[in-house]
Parts: sequence; structure tokens; C-alpha cells
Amino acid sequence: MNEMFLLKLGEMVLKGLNRHSFEDKLQANIHRRLNGLGRFRVYTRQSTTYVEPMEDSCDMDAAWEAMKKVFGVVGLSRARACDKDKDAILQACHEYLDDRLRSARTFKVETRRADKTFPMTSIQLSQYVGGELDELYPNLQVDVHHPELTVYVEIRDYAAFVHANPDPGAGGLPVGINGRAVSLLSGGIDSPVASYMIAKRGVALDMVHFFSYPYTSPEAKEKVLELARLLTPWCGHLTVHVVPFTAIQEELRRSCPEEMFTLVMRRFMMRIAQRVAKRCGAKALVTGESLGQVASQTMDAMTVTGQVVDIPVLRPVVGMDKEEIVQISRKIGTYDTSILPYEDCCTVFTPRHPRLRPTVEEAEAAEAGLDIEAMVQAAVDGIERIRL
Ligand code: ATP
Ligand code: MG
Repeated sequence: MNEMFLLKLGEMVLKGLNRHSFEDKLQANIHRRLNGLGRFRVYTRQSTTYVEPMEDSCDMDAAWEAMKKVFGVVGLSRARACDKDKDAILQACHEYLDDRLRSARTFKVETRRADKTFPMTSIQLSQYVGGELDELYPNLQVDVHHPELTVYVEIRDYAAFVHANPDPGAGGLPVGINGRAVSLLSGGIDSPVASYMIAKRGVALDMVHFFSYPYTSPEAKEKVLELARLLTPWCGHLTVHVVPFTAIQEELRRSCPEEMFTLVMRRFMMRIAQRVAKRCGAKALVTGESLGQVASQTMDAMTVTGQVVDIPVLRPVVGMDKEEIVQISRKIGTYDTSILPYEDCCTVFTPRHPRLRPTVEEAEAAEAGLDIEAMVQAAVDGIERIRL
């Protein structure tokens, strides 16, 4: 074992949220993400979590990619281990950080010494390694105040480690530290991004998808499951609750004024999602609604759809432009799947002239003849749960 990862922990801002629960949750999440990649030791000291392989067969590249997607980590470095000897340390810097040493113009060396028996002080070692690197790389100049590159040397009990400027981490808070929410996942671009954004704030997710077979195809359902799968490196394991929605849509087409169809349908989605939330201990719903994007995403429409639930509806992309949402979806890797051309249940029976300023009274009138409870219960009873 001659390499390990150092993960720098992010904000711990919530009052009352103590450092230990943050670190414990993060460590548990890290262990889960490393599952199947080999045996690792994970421990935290002073706002840094160390991930050390415990066997040669550990897949370090896959583990590195996985660690970049762990919420709660602001920055991460790969570090090389070497003997606790000043020339072995210099050699390790030279070999392991060669690319970065060649491409920087200014640098400094910073040493941390956990092993106080090491024969040089931190400053002496930094000066020695810095001086030698300065000679070896004519492109480099020492700048202790604003260096482009900082070479870190750590003298620990059993080995020394060298590493350089960290890469950016996923940021946010460890998933699970802020409870659980149910995210309404369609096959579009917006809801996977919304799910990612809420997970980033430390929320574990369950997904609900409304499926209208045969109006929407098995491929459309597969696409949604694939989107959920693509989210698991960020969000952790997920359950997708696939709700049979055909009967409700057909009933609404029969009995509901066409211009109110979409809104009433969305009220059913909210009611059913709230049932799922109660069942899995979730305390909010998440949607990919963006203000004004379509007729059902106005403030009036949000009042009408939000009125049927008593838990908060989180809409993290509400203030974002489509282009901003697209950028995130590309970054997190869901875009290419989102744009596959399958129908969503929302595009089935779409009204030609949806109501633009709907009111709660109109929605209630449109629902007056319906046995809402029976319709919701039948859909909930038919849920298929898929664990990813
Ligand atoms: P998206 O890009 O997320 O599909 P959209 O711009 O197509 O959103 P709508 O179709 O109005 O917008 O849907 C708004 C939100 O309602 C979605 O972001 C999603 O959270 C939820 N939603 C829509 N259709 C479904 C569905 N079939 N299953 C689960 N949730 C859905
Ligand atoms: Mg959609």
C-alpha cells in the first residue's frame, strides 16, 4: 500500500448538528461507496478523513472517482506514502507530483508532523524539500504567500505522505444527516437535477415515479430507473416506487374538465407521493418545477397542487433557467439519458388550453365527483418497489 486519499470535510453549519454525527455519517457513506472496491480503512482526524487501502487488490482509481461524489467533502487529494526519510520524501515528491511541479510557476512546501520523533522540525523539512525541488525544476519559484502549487508533506506514525493541492469535492452535507425526502422523478432533465440538489444538502431520497402503461412504454420506465441508477453515486442506495397511474388518468379524462386535467392529475401525484413519504419516514417532497417553465408551474398552479399535502414541497430548481439546469445535469451525468425521447405520463392527455390562473376552488370543483381516497389507495396498493 503506497497511496491513500485525504478528504477535507466541508461545512458543519447547522446549529445543534455536532461534529461527531457529521463525521460518523460521512464515514458510513464512504464505506458504502467503497463497497466492492476492496478493503479500506477510513478514519477522521482534524477535519480530514483518511481513506487507506488495506490490500493491494483495492481498485484505487474507481475508489477515487467514487470519493469525488461523496457529499460532505469539499476537497480531496491522492497522497503517496514513502519512508520517513528526507530523501525518500524528496524522491516521492519528484516522482509522484512531477506533472504538477513541471506545470506550476510558484510553489511552497508545507510539512505536518504527527510523529514528533522525526529528526527534523516541520520548517527544516519544508526548507530542505523546497530547496531541492527549486533546484530540480527551473520553472519553479518559491512563493510562501500565494503559491500556485502547495506540496504537502505529512510525517505520520508509520509512514510519510506527500500530496498537492486538493481537487474539488462534491461539497454539501453527508447524505442522511438532514433526514429523508421523497423525490418525484420523471424522465425529464429537471427532476434528476432537483434530486441531486436536495441530496447534496444531506437528505436521503426515495423516488416516486408515476407510470401510465400502456400510454407510456416499458422503455420510458427503464429510462427513469436508469436515471435513478445514475444518481446513486451521489445519493446512495435508492428505492424507486413505481406507481400505476393509468387508472387515475383515465378516470380524470372521463370526469374532469379538460383545462383542469393537468392540475388535478398533479394533485393526485402529490397526494400519492405524500402517502409514500409517510410510509418511508420522509418529511418533504421534491419536484423539478421551475417557475414559469410551463402552465402548471406558475405560482397559482403551485398553490393548487401544494394545497393537498401538509409537508413541505421542495423545489430546488424553481429559480433556475433551463440552461443552468442543463449544465448541472451534464455535470452529474444524467443529461444524455434525460433527453432520450420517451413519453412521460404528463404528456398523455395534455389539455389544449390549460387554465393559466387556476384556483383551489376550481380544482376542488373538478374533483367533486371523485372518490379521491379510493383512487389514491388503489394506486398506493399497486406500487412496485425497485431497490437500486
Ligand atoms: P422534468 O424535466 O423533471 O420532467 P418538466 O419540466 O417536464 O420536469 P412537468 O412535466 O410539469 O415538468 O413536471 C414537473 C415535476 O413533476 C417534475 O419535475 C417531477 O418532479 C414531477 N413529475 C412529472 N411527471 C412525473 C412522473 N411521471 N413521475 C414522477 N414525477 C413526475
Ligand atoms: Mg417532464
